[in-house]
Amino acid sequence: MGDKTEESKQEMENLNVLASTQSIIQDALSKLGYPEQVYELMKEPMRMLTVRIPVRMDDGSVKIFTGYRAQHNDSVGPTKGGIRFHPEVSEDEVKALSIWMSLKSGIVDLPYGGGKGGIICDPREMSFRELERLSRGYVRAISQIVGPTKDIPAPDVFTNSQIMAWMMDEYSRIREFDSSGFITGKPLVLGGSHGRESATAKGVTICIREAAKKKEIDLTGAKVVIQGFGNAGSFLAKFMHDAGATVVGISDAYGALHDPEGLDIDYLLDRRDSFGTVTKLFKNTITNEELLELECDILVPAAIENQITSENADRIKAEIIVEAANGPTTIEATRILSDKGVLIVPDVLASAGGVTVSYFEWVQNNQGYYWTEEEVEAKLENIMVKAFDNVYKASKIRQVNMRLSAYMVGVRKLAEASRFRGWV
Ligand code: NAD
Repeated sequence: MGDKTEESKQEMENLNVLASTQSIIQDALSKLGYPEQVYELMKEPMRMLTVRIPVRMDDGSVKIFTGYRAQHNDSVGPTKGGIRFHPEVSEDEVKALSIWMSLKSGIVDLPYGGGKGGIICDPREMSFRELERLSRGYVRAISQIVGPTKDIPAPDVFTNSQIMAWMMDEYSRIREFDSSGFITGKPLVLGGSHGRESATAKGVTICIREAAKKKEIDLTGAKVVIQGFGNAGSFLAKFMHDAGATVVGISDAYGALHDPEGLDIDYLLDRRDSFGTVTKLFKNTITNEELLELECDILVPAAIENQITSENADRIKAEIIVEAANGPTTIEATRILSDKGVLIVPDVLASAGGVTVSYFEWVQNNQGYYWTEEEVEAKLENIMVKAFDNVYKASKIRQVNMRLSAYMVGVRKLAEASRFRGWV
């Protein structure tokens, strides 16, 4: 019985992120006037590799992990996208994430298609050396299909610059040359870029600023709630605090903190661990569900998928939702909120700052000449403002919400490139 209810809920609401992405892509392509075969090409990654990775654990036993690498479409250029370490990684999730990377690259106009990787594991339960062996094992398993001109990985949930460094080192050993351009999100001393760590949050900050202008909300004193306190969420909390906004709620996987007068962001940043956990230190926490429904002007989901659904959309009080996370809002919730007049800046636009500075990192690796933080920030600002304007204007002209207009802007370049190549 329980399973049936779950099934019908899934069907009703497309909680399957791949199915819901496919339905928006189909809508976007049909609005753009492309024939059915273009959708047939775009609806799944062109290449999907599943790997089994044996890892020697610290106690001497061997554990076998399952990993994936999806390459959505390489008509424009090499594929690009992060690697996620999480117990809930699935084939469909990795596929959807690779499609979203294609859309992001299209929206910010980068010479890439989308890629994504994931390993089913819980890095919070693993030692430093076990994580190193898993990271190196994954690179050995996927090495034939990745490379600086083929498919370029990066960090995502529960992966960081240390993991990128091990992966780059392993790939360089296999290829027998120093391949810094194989992966982005590296430490600065190994060819990382200034501004990469905070790039996703910077891009989200620019989108919040632009969206607030449209809604005539003054950022100074505006109340902001952020779900997730990892790479994206914690830098964002800092940037919002620095911009004069009041961050009244933040959360991690275990709970949420709320203070209507504003949280002490510097203190929380200081106490958070490398997995973005901070609430375990506090007693009077609220749940993630309660956090999303707090009184605020701006809500930023910066954790995981399917957080805003038809279940809670009606109770959300924010006027603006800017999606730092991938896939946090279902199609049905997007409809409910858009009808209420809430401005939703979709994930494929709002979180594109990360891949943009990853692209800068790759360009710098290829040319062997490195930019200052100011140069990186100025270039990112230009690209994000232009992308926001394009998507916003398209939504007004086409009379559609910003999610659909972002998909239309994002998919067009891939569709055109695939057409010129004679694929469709
Ligand atoms: P992260 O691992 O650094 O942080 C994730 C945060 O989410 C942590 O605070 C964690 O405690 C919290 N979290 C995990 N499971 C949760 C749950 N069930 N409920 C509530 N909170 C939970 O990851 P990140 O890099 O900050 O990524 C966050 C989101 O942003 C993801 O959707 C990711 O795909 C997206 N994103 C990240 C980047 C990037 O450059 N890091 C770029 C684009 C998009």
